[in-house]
Amino acid sequence: MLKLVTILQNYLRVKRIQTYSPDAFRQWQTKQLKKHLKWIKLHSPYFNNGPLNLSDFPYMDKQMMMDNFDLLNTKGINKDEAFEIALSAEENRDFSPTIGNITVGLSSGTSGNRGIFLVSEEEQAAWAGTILAKLLPNGFKNREKIAFFLRANSNLYESVKSRKIEFTFFDLLDHFETHLKRLEDYQPTILAAPPSMVRRIAETVKEKKLTIQPIKIITMAEVLDPLDEQFIEGVFQQKVHQVYQCTEGFLGCTCKHGTIHLNEDIIYIEKEFLNLEKTKFYPIITDFRRRTQPIIRYRLNDILTIKTDPCPCGSPMLAIEQIEGRMDDLFILKNYQNKMEYVFPDFIRRACITASDNLKEYKVIQHNMNEIEVQCLVFNEDKRQETEQSIQANLTGYLKENYIVPGITFGHYQEIDILTKLKRIENKMQKDIYNVE
Ligand SMILES: [Zn+2]
Repeated sequence: MLKLVTILQNYLRVKRIQTYSPDAFRQWQTKQLKKHLKWIKLHSPYFNNGPLNLSDFPYMDKQMMMDNFDLLNTKGINKDEAFEIALSAEENRDFSPTIGNITVGLSSGTSGNRGIFLVSEEEQAAWAGTILAKLLPNGFKNREKIAFFLRANSNLYESVKSRKIEFTFFDLLDHFETHLKRLEDYQPTILAAPPSMVRRIAETVKEKKLTIQPIKIITMAEVLDPLDEQFIEGVFQQKVHQVYQCTEGFLGCTCKHGTIHLNEDIIYIEKEFLNLEKTKFYPIITDFRRRTQPIIRYRLNDILTIKTDPCPCGSPMLAIEQIEGRMDDLFILKNYQNKMEYVFPDFIRRACITASDNLKEYKVIQHNMNEIEVQCLVFNEDKRQETEQSIQANLTGYLKENYIVPGITFGHYQEIDILTKLKRIENKMQKDIYNVE
């Protein structure tokens, strides 16, 4: 049973920190970080003789975390035992694998290497309090029913059920028809799902085959594409909110103005900049609330773009223009000096969605240095050729400013199954052979 006190404490903490001035916030954050590192040095065998300052800690990634699993965690949990428990839970669709009061979860990861994560009961309660404080539209004033779409359930997400709030779990593995029936019966006030699922639900609502009226829509687990955002906002007549979360942590979410703020009240973020203007970066995260399995200087593979104009909400936490996707999916093209260079996905995206109103869905794939394929789904087939020409012109116009323009071909749009993360921009070429500047 989760400690309600912990949920409430964290709820109130988040609300309080939101009112801090930028200076007061940074001071508070530095203190939290220091305290946390001290604690970790005392309790994680891996860091026992470790440094004092964050900048002296080694970088972490999934591989490093798995290689040193037993020493890193502060509960003396053995990796093989944890894997066994998590795997058998997955097979039996039993969603509460625990060791003592520690929940064990599996993360598949896009690259295929499995990871394992540990979260204590205390940490789950803290997570619940934090997410509620950041996302409940009306605090605890109204009773909210949350429809939560996930690939597999886990303790982590089932954690809140009370008089004031209810989470209901929808397994992404179920048939879409089943979801529709359950949604119609359940009538959620909050809908939380990957954007590709919300888009399908919105299409069904538009066709009047489903009548739900959520007051808040939250997307997670995939990049929210502007094309889907527009469509969903059009159908439900409201802003789409985003949660930026992965197994490594709850990293950010949108404020009431729809701006994504990084959760700097739980995570300290170092930035590894990717461009000269210093607007795009890889986040390196240190979670100063997570004790069971320390996340210290963990490098994420996501590209984030900083929002340059301030958000009217006044939050002292870093505002993000967008989460662009993973580094692996950046396109690589030759510039006029014949050097390889990265092409950021937001340009490709913009080139496509501003090309025509007739575009319903799209996907852009780089196959090799000489071929980019665009797959379109259009509203009106009679205007397909026109639409494709317009996309071609837009893309060429943008690319030729800096790069040698590759061949742009058009192919059939392939529907993907719901379990595959929807990627609108994907690089499928063998990358390790290239030397990118
Ligand atoms: Zn804001």
